[in-house]
Amino acid sequence: MDDLAIIGSGPAGYTAGIYAGRANLKPVLFEGLESGGQLMLTTDVENYPGFDEGIMGPEMMQVFKKQAERFGTKILTETVNKIEKIQEGFKLTTSKDTYEFKSVIISSGASANWLGVKGEKELQGYGVSACATCDGFFFKDKNVIVVGGGDSAMEESLFLTKFAKKVTVVHRRDEFRASKIMQERVLNHEQIEVAWNKEVTEIKGDKQVSSVILKDSNSNEEEEKEIDGVFVAIGHTPNVEFLDGFVELDEKGYIKTGFTSSTSTSMSGVFASGDVADSIYRQAVTAAGTGCQAAIDAERWLEN
Ligand code: NAP
Repeated sequence: MDDLAIIGSGPAGYTAGIYAGRANLKPVLFEGLESGGQLMLTTDVENYPGFDEGIMGPEMMQVFKKQAERFGTKILTETVNKIEKIQEGFKLTTSKDTYEFKSVIISSGASANWLGVKGEKELQGYGVSACATCDGFFFKDKNVIVVGGGDSAMEESLFLTKFAKKVTVVHRRDEFRASKIMQERVLNHEQIEVAWNKEVTEIKGDKQVSSVILKDSNSNEEEEKEIDGVFVAIGHTPNVEFLDGFVELDEKGYIKTGFTSSTSTSMSGVFASGDVADSIYRQAVTAAGTGCQAAIDAERWLEN
């Protein structure tokens, strides 16, 4: 039985691999069928310390992967579909095989919810984003829309006013669900306007976003609005379906941690790091930080 499985190949999973590899745990990392996590959907990453000139998201994940492999992390291109408790450890069932491990780190991430409209996927990284902190800087003096009416949409809009000339919040109803204080900040901000009762039905652009089609939720009338960027802020979903109740989740559906150590879960020997256990920060650097913590926690747990 191997010591440690790591599920997920974002900054958290690879960092756990680097640390566990250097601790000689010979970790096996299940990267899924698409490696690299959410950073594969971004272009420049300029806020990760150590890259003073910035780095492309996918390139950064290649560097993380190489570094984990250098210290002996074995990477399998398989998706874990099930985890079960067995005597002395855990059984993982993947798309190809079954494996047994003494301990597990879950770093399966979260996925931004997308609108699913025409043009959205094609223009991701070219004006369509789900992360203002990551991509807001590229919209200096531009006009952008933020889709959503929750706290994330309010936060993204306020953040974007630091760069964009004008921010339009597009919301499908006539009231926000965001907290009152956040709503007030948005409604009182001179650079922000709100398009109430509007849904984005299409994002247009040739290699870069140029406009959106907005449909009125009441009249169904459509209009085209010229725009430079579209920020989708309609929530994130942690990737926990495959766990099927194996560990406790918090009230928002993220893995609950902090039982016996920072990254420990409700199941002894199972740890969680990165966005799957973080509904608040959701940054590459914080995910990497908790990946490091999970590897150290797993190492100590195995020693005991
Ligand atoms: P959320 O509260 O679930 O809000 C999602 C918003 O997106 C809602 O306004 C919803 O519209 C809209 N939406 C959902 N699907 C849509 C679709 N297909 N098309 C158009 N609009 C759609 O998500 P969130 O804003 O990410 O917040 C998640 C949690 O984190 C919340 O508990 C929030 O309070 C918390 N959070 C807190 C802070 C903070 O305190 N600083 C910051 C960010 C997030 P409807 O309203 O019509 O359903």
